[in-house]
Amino acid sequence: STPGGPRSKEEKIVVTVRLRPLSKKEQQAKDHMAWECIDDNTIVYKPQPQERQAQPASFTFDKVFSPASLTEAVYEEGVKNVALSALMGINATIFAYGQTSSGKTFTMRGITEKAVNDIYKHISNTPERDFTIRISGLEIYNENVRDLLNTESGRNLKLLDDPEKGTMVEKLVEETANNDQHLRQLISICEAQRQVGETALNDYSSRSHQIIRLTIQSTLRENSDCVRSFVASLNFVDLAGSERASQTHADGARLREGCHINLSLMTLTTVIRKLSLGKRSGHIPYRDSKLTRILQHSLGGNARTAIICTLSPALTHVEQSRNTLYFATRAK
Ligand code: ADP
Ligand code: MG
Repeated sequence: STPGGPRSKEEKIVVTVRLRPLSKKEQQAKDHMAWECIDDNTIVYKPQPQERQAQPASFTFDKVFSPASLTEAVYEEGVKNVALSALMGINATIFAYGQTSSGKTFTMRGITEKAVNDIYKHISNTPERDFTIRISGLEIYNENVRDLLNTESGRNLKLLDDPEKGTMVEKLVEETANNDQHLRQLISICEAQRQVGETALNDYSSRSHQIIRLTIQSTLRENSDCVRSFVASLNFVDLAGSERASQTHADGARLREGCHINLSLMTLTTVIRKLSLGKRSGHIPYRDSKLTRILQHSLGGNARTAIICTLSPALTHVEQSRNTLYFATRAK
């Protein structure tokens, strides 16, 4: 479909799954590949030799990406149309969802880079319009919001409700990008700032959400009668580890994890499940967490969403991988 073209409900949330390769460490520990992508749409659990009662599992999605797939393909087939709709005035959000170490940050960084390339390609191919790109970056840790472009403003920025613009983050810095190189530089500042958090606090990246928001505005250059203006947000969201979303298994380790359930992540999964149900869903609890408040206008309604669910292939992670696939199935 063309960006901004007619869309069905099914197209509004695009759900893909990316299986990463086994890491060196996992290989050295003699871990196994527990999952296999048998075609472009299907991922299956491979029962292990010692397993008496294999839990058969086969999951189907818009698209599954095998360990051999490049981020390029993940972008082209799972994200591009959603991202580019922001150039036509339609809000869009791209999520990476998955357990810690499954490849969210790896994937989201590559995706952001490719989207930036495409945005500037579009700008140079559209001389009749004037574009302005602004960027802000924030992180939510423990329901506290901090600015990734301005660390002076502290770790707990307030959210304000603006009747026109929706939820705003008080004092959040928004920089205007002069060109693509400048934009990349600002994105790296956000990423570096996140690293600082990681060094200071244990498990920071597994508990925190990062949002990089581009606001893309354009107007027709000719001052004719048909001057039209577009403005939309394009959000790149690297979520907290999905192990913070569920409390399904009651063994000791999981219970302890249960104490760290992440409100924003849990609320997001509820919001997405309800959005995927469409009209039948009833009340959508955007207001219940900081993440969903901040993203409210870029989720549901006319907004477009792409969710890349990242999976570790390792046998030791099989339960979390299954949880991620259940989430992905409900999001479709
Ligand atoms: P997360 O953000 O979900 O915790 P990371 O993105 O940090 O996970 O990925 C964990 C490790 O796996 C990193 O060293 C990363 O470089 C590597 N990795 C993740 N996905 C891939 C992939 N598709 N191909 C190769 N290496 C990957
Ligand atoms: Mg990460």
